[in-house]
Amino acid sequence: MGRVSDDHRRRVPRTDTVLADARLEPALATLGRARVKEVVVAAQGRARAGEIAPEAVADEVVASLPRTAASMRPVLNATGVLLHTNLGRAPLSAAARDAIDAAAGTTDVELDLATGGRGRRGAGALAALAATVPDAGGVHVVNNGAAALILAATALAAGGREIVIARGEMVEIGDGFRLPDLLESTGARLREVGTTNRVRVDDYADAVGPRTGMILKVHPSNFVVTGFTSSVPASELTGLGVPVVADIGSGLLAPHPLLPDEPDAATELRGGVPLVTASGDKLLGGPQAGLLLGDADLVHRLRRHPLARALRVDKLTLAALEATLRGPEPPVRAMLAADVDALRSRAGEVAAAIGEPAAAIDCAAQVGGGGAPGVELPSAGVALPAACAAALRAGADPVVARVEQGRCVLDLRSVPASEDGRLVVAVRAALAARA
Ligand SMILES: *Cc1c(COP(=O)(O)O)cnc(C)c1O
Repeated sequence: MGRVSDDHRRRVPRTDTVLADARLEPALATLGRARVKEVVVAAQGRARAGEIAPEAVADEVVASLPRTAASMRPVLNATGVLLHTNLGRAPLSAAARDAIDAAAGTTDVELDLATGGRGRRGAGALAALAATVPDAGGVHVVNNGAAALILAATALAAGGREIVIARGEMVEIGDGFRLPDLLESTGARLREVGTTNRVRVDDYADAVGPRTGMILKVHPSNFVVTGFTSSVPASELTGLGVPVVADIGSGLLAPHPLLPDEPDAATELRGGVPLVTASGDKLLGGPQAGLLLGDADLVHRLRRHPLARALRVDKLTLAALEATLRGPEPPVRAMLAADVDALRSRAGEVAAAIGEPAAAIDCAAQVGGGGAPGVELPSAGVALPAACAAALRAGADPVVARVEQGRCVLDLRSVPASEDGRLVVAVRAALAARA
């Protein structure tokens, strides 16, 4: 500081003078005055510290203004993990994005425009869900998969009643988040049956008694147990006289030919399971949501439970969910179904467009996000030197890659084909930044 002269400090422009710069007008409109002022104050600070010339303050502000009011940035997912939790799981379809945009203002989410009276909240989304899963007598939507479980556990087993659950299904779903803790937080008690690797129908039958509130089957969605194992399908537990809840996790509403081991709602319901819970933003490819599907009376009971109000979804979710269910194939489903030869030819084109040192390679993608554990999806991509990964993340249009075997891999299965051009531009910029 001592080296900065008083004259230099006096030449630092006043806040109002900088804010009056015509170049800041668009930012004042999109970001708001307070946010722009923060940037001005920071630039003035740098000028006073002698880091920039006093005359450069306005230029510095123009260069460092954030482009949008929210700090979350779009990112290209080249990890090959289709549902990447840290990248927001399922990317929404264009139809779902449009629906969110349309619902963002005032909307008829809970109003019947024909009568002017109150309408059922999210009627369109619920009707779409019911139409997609005709085996469900009732449907309801809450904030996420965890909320769906909390609602079921609270309504069926709070107050010290028991949830009978296999020991091998006491799972942690990620980020230190454990299902048993979640369930016990409702006041229910867990009655564990079987061993880590094996459980039989008799184990459940022996545990069910007057204190039982429900039997819970949890799909181990992020690990596989192999070897000497056995588990009981939820449909074999429906004769024990208590409600059976199947948490299928990933949100497949019907069987998927590429994921034969992944449970789906229709099959569970057809097997007589009274309640299925699932996430909306995994293999369904929609917004974050928790789906409750099943017996009409049971779902009605859950929907009317006081806790349901605290778990309800907002209008944006309802809009995106309906568009996902009724609209064109969501991106996750397209990525899952992508043909490996088509991925290979895209990889060749992307590598050629980038030039040295990019090389097209074969690789393996995965579903991720708590779905289809252990399933490898044949894929193709582009290999770069490992050090590129950081430069790609730091770019103006960030790309998240996978680093494996000492190289940076851009897996194209998780990149929509329409974004290949954007990927090439981002990679070229990252390579130039490193040079
Ligand atoms: C993902 C998952 C959950 C949690 O769902 P969220 O939507 O993340 O709250 C619960 N159970 C299983 C089996 C899951 O795979």
